[in-house]
Amino acid sequence: MDKTITLLDKQFELFISESEISEAVARIANAVARDYKDEIPIFIGVLNGAFMFVSDFLKSYAHACEVSFVKLSSYRGLTSTGLVKTLLDFPEGIQGRSIVVLEDIVDTGRTVQEIYHLLSGSNVKSFRIATLFFKSQMYKGEYPIDYFGIEIPDRFIVGYGLDYQEQGRNLRHIYQLKQES
Ligand code: 5GP
Ligand code: MG
Repeated sequence: MDKTITLLDKQFELFISESEISEAVARIANAVARDYKDEIPIFIGVLNGAFMFVSDFLKSYAHACEVSFVKLSSYRGLTSTGLVKTLLDFPEGIQGRSIVVLEDIVDTGRTVQEIYHLLSGSNVKSFRIATLFFKSQMYKGEYPIDYFGIEIPDRFIVGYGLDYQEQGRNLRHIYQLKQES
């Protein structure tokens, strides 16, 4: 396993291994299953970053469920632009349903805020957020993060679906940006 990798102009070092990620995904899936196994929740993945998490989460979730995706965008390169655009909206027919949004990472909470905004007025039965990674020190949102896998400090990470300028999503492990020295 490579300890250091290069993507475009930046170096990244190994931070969280594939096996730690798998354990965290299974933990989240089990916690969600405890709460939702007696109904049919709709899991909504947030593209692009959450695609790999959604895929592994579903393989660990052994009960009836549906899956769909939304696409929002706020990050450009290493820092957030602060702008969240809706590129793909929530599916039709979610009224009365239990929704669990699956996010790759929650940072400032702007994306979560926007998701709550998009869902307001859609009369869902219930709504929760599950995220694989959580930068809890950076989180400024007013909504609870109901399930999270791994808390991380304020570092820029790539791999397992997360990108640096669209690259690195295919990495099996999580890498963090090397501090410049
Ligand atoms: P927030 O809206 O909570 O500030 O940021 C959430 C979104 O920003 C995530 O869904 C993700 O796309 C992106 N993001 C936040 N932190 C990181 C990071 O460390 N690495 C990468 N690749 N994307 C991040
Ligand atoms: Mg994302």
